Amino acid sequence: MISLVIPCYNEEESIPYFIKEINKVMDKMKKEKFELIFVNDGSKDKTLEMLKKLSKEDKRVKYISFSRNFGKEAAMLAGLEHTCGDYVAIMDADLQDPPELIIEMYNGIKEEGYDCVGLRRMTRRGEPKVRSFFAKCYYKIINKISNTEIVDGARDFRLMTRQMVNSILELQENNRYSKGIFSWVGYNTKWLEYKNVERVAGVTKWSFFKLFAYSIESIIAFSTFPLILSILVGLFLLFISFIMIIMLFYFKTEFLQVCTLMVFLGGIQITFLGVIGLYLSKIHIELQNRPKYIIKETNIKKAS
Ligand code: UDP
Ligand code: MG
Repeated sequence: MISLVIPCYNEEESIPYFIKEINKVMDKMKKEKFELIFVNDGSKDKTLEMLKKLSKEDKRVKYISFSRNFGKEAAMLAGLEHTCGDYVAIMDADLQDPPELIIEMYNGIKEEGYDCVGLRRMTRRGEPKVRSFFAKCYYKIINKISNTEIVDGARDFRLMTRQMVNSILELQENNRYSKGIFSWVGYNTKWLEYKNVERVAGVTKWSFFKLFAYSIESIIAFSTFPLILSILVGLFLLFISFIMIIMLFYFKTEFLQVCTLMVFLGGIQITFLGVIGLYLSKIHIELQNRPKYIIKETNIKKAS
């Protein structure tokens, strides 16, 4: 069985189009059983009523409805936790993730032996220029400072094996950044490339500020570099203050004395803030409580 997880937040306009397209795909893949798990993320429009109606008409349609808007990450998690398919896909309700690609993804897993087939856009056409610029900078920075690869242009749309989904669900951290988590759990991923598609109806739920906050979250979840940066800045200031101390022998002005003291103390403070931060980050990592490793295959039988 193939499970599809569809997070929906105010998607009453898109859902009818989505159902039409997904039905075409399910007809083409007659041999497979499907379940569609819609997660209503506290929509304020008629999304829930629509989902209820759909679920009455089609037994494959299931819905989970949140008590308020918890965000797409929460919706994806709830969806994944309720799937029972052997293959699981996450996709948007707005048809920005072309449903017919599921067939290709399925072949990638079944025939080519991948664990996951994802979608990656090559161009950001149709997106505001400023947003593209910040997105590019973001991917450059995060990939420099994080050990987990965050693939530029990768969408959340992907088909995964049950094994991979179970691994993803082992990560129960509160600040979820799925793009990082998908890559953190490992497994072999094949990337399909495509051009950006605009949503069929409705408007994007991501404001620039929301995206910015999300990117900060991802950096905190997947990198401790900002703390190291604090130590580096502190040490740099200390270095400068030593040069200033030497200068004090030649220029005995009061102004320079005060400046030297300030730079010296500032350097010490920032260095030790970074050190304290590193200890905090260790606590943070312990609290995330991620699995220490993920086994894909073994021939050792578990003694039970
Ligand atoms: N979404 C959600 N909760 C939110 C925001 C978005 O469930 O708080 C859903 C939304 O309904 C859509 C998907 O997440 O199915 C992607 O959102 P959107 O299309 O607005 O983002 P974009 O494609 O513009 O990045
Ligand atoms: Mg979209």
